[in-house]
Amino acid sequence: MSLAEPVEVAPRPVAQLAPVIGTAREARLMSAAEAFRRKMGGRTIWNISSTSVGGGVAEMLQVLLGYVGDLGVSCRWIVITGDASFFVITKRLHNHIHGMTADGALTDDDAAHYTRMLAANAAELTQQVKPGDLVILHDPQTAGLAGPLAKAGAKIAWRCHIGADWQTETTQAAWDFLRPYLTAADAFIFTRREYAPLWMPAAKVSVIPPSIDPLSAKNRDLDNKSAHAILRQIGVFDGTARAGDASFTRSDGGAGLVTGVADITATRHPAPADPLVVQVSRWDKLKDMLGVMRGFAEHVAPQGDGFLLLVGPAVAGVTDDPEGAAVFGDCLLKWRDLPSEIQNRVLLVTLPLDDIEENAAMVNALQRRASVIVQKSLAEGFGLTVAEGMWKGRPVVGSAVGGIIDQIAEGTGVLLPDPADLAAFGTTVRLLIDEPGTASAIGRAAKGYIAAHFVGDMHLLRYEQLLSGLIEAS
Ligand code: UDP
Repeated sequence: MSLAEPVEVAPRPVAQLAPVIGTAREARLMSAAEAFRRKMGGRTIWNISSTSVGGGVAEMLQVLLGYVGDLGVSCRWIVITGDASFFVITKRLHNHIHGMTADGALTDDDAAHYTRMLAANAAELTQQVKPGDLVILHDPQTAGLAGPLAKAGAKIAWRCHIGADWQTETTQAAWDFLRPYLTAADAFIFTRREYAPLWMPAAKVSVIPPSIDPLSAKNRDLDNKSAHAILRQIGVFDGTARAGDASFTRSDGGAGLVTGVADITATRHPAPADPLVVQVSRWDKLKDMLGVMRGFAEHVAPQGDGFLLLVGPAVAGVTDDPEGAAVFGDCLLKWRDLPSEIQNRVLLVTLPLDDIEENAAMVNALQRRASVIVQKSLAEGFGLTVAEGMWKGRPVVGSAVGGIIDQIAEGTGVLLPDPADLAAFGTTVRLLIDEPGTASAIGRAAKGYIAAHFVGDMHLLRYEQLLSGLIEAS
C-alpha cells in the first residue's frame, strides 16, 4: 500500500460562476489562466494535504481544484498517510498554533517521529514530483515535506490555514517545532498577515483568505418556500413539512430532499413571521454560544420580539469531540436556568450529520431565514459562517477578532470591538430587528462585498499571482 494517495477531483465549469461574478471577471480569470498555462510550461502543481474529506481545507480544495481542472492547468492532489501518534503530534501542533496549551508539550521524540513519517511519504512523492514543479503544502501536517521536495527541485509554498492574532509562548513553541522544516520553503501563505510568525521573511509571506462556494448546498439559492419547509421539516417551526417541499439542490446540481430532523431543546417554537437571531457554529468555547445566550436574554429579549437559535452539529454519540458535548452541556444547563419568559424564546438546535449536504441545506435555510446572523466568537481563524451569512444578504453582527475583521467592511455588517460587551451586542441586534430597512441595506451591501472578495475566482487569482512569482524567480 502506498502512503501518498492521489485524490481525483472532477472538473467544475468556471462558466457556472458567471451569474455570480459576471462576464468581466470570468474573462479576467480565463485570460489569467491562459497566461499562467504558458508560464507553467510542462510543470505540474501539487497540492499535498492530510485528508480529502471533512474539514474546511478538503472542502475548499474539492471546489478550487475542480475549477483549476476546467481551466486546463495541470494540478494534482495527494493525501499523505500517518500513524495515530503522528496525528496526535500534529493535532497538538494545531492547538499550539491557536495558542492552546492544555494537551502537553512538543518533545524531541515527537519531532523525530514527525520527521520519520514525513520522510516515508516524501520517498514516494519524490518519485513523482519533477524539478521545477510547484508544490503547495497544506497545514502543519505536511510542513516536514518542504525539505525533501525542495531537494528534489520543486518550488515550495506552505499554506497555513490556521493562526492566532497574538504570538504567545505556546504559539512560539509550535513555531520553534516547525521552523527547521520550513526553512526550505520558497513562500508562505496565511489567511491573515498577523498569523505569520515574526521570523518569516516578510517578502516570502502572502495573504490569501478562503472563499465560499456559491454553488454548494450551503450557499446556493434556496427559495423562501423551500427554506420555510426545511425549517418545518427539521422542527424549528411547528408542524410537518408537506411531502417533497423540503427540497434543495446538491453541489453536483442533483435534487436533494431534507428528511432528517434536528434535535431541538425548546419550550416554544417561533411562528414563521417571528424574527430569528441565529448563530451557527461548532460547540466550541471560543464561539461563545453562552455569551450569545446571555446577551440575548439580558439585552434583546426584554426589549422586544424575536427568538434566538443557537445552532451546531449533533453532539450525541460523537466520541472524537468530547469538548463539543461539554460545551453543549453547559449551554443546556444555562438554558434551564433562564427565566421562563426568556427560555420560551431560546432554542438550542443540533443538526444531524448523516448526510453532509442535507446538513448544509439545513444551515442554508437557517441562515436565509435569519433576521440577524451573529458570530460572537472570542477568537476566530477566518469564520466562514460570516461570509456565508453575508452572501445570503443577511445583516451579520460579528466580533472584531481574527478573520471576521477582514470580512465585515464599513456598512456591510457590524463589528463588535469587544466581544465581552454584551450590552453593545444586544443593542446592535435589537436595532437590526427593529429597523428592517437598515438591516436589508446592510444585507445588500454584505452580499455584494462577499461576491467581490471571497468567491473562487478571486481566490484562484491570488494563487496564480503567487505561483507566477515562484516560476519567475526560478
Ligand atoms: N457548520 C455546518 N454544520 C453545522 C455547524 C457548522 O456545516 O452544524 C459549518 C458552517 O456553516 C461553516 C463551518 O462549519 O461552514 C465552520 O467554519 P468556520 O470557519 O465558521 O469555523 P470553524 O469551525 O472552522 O472554527
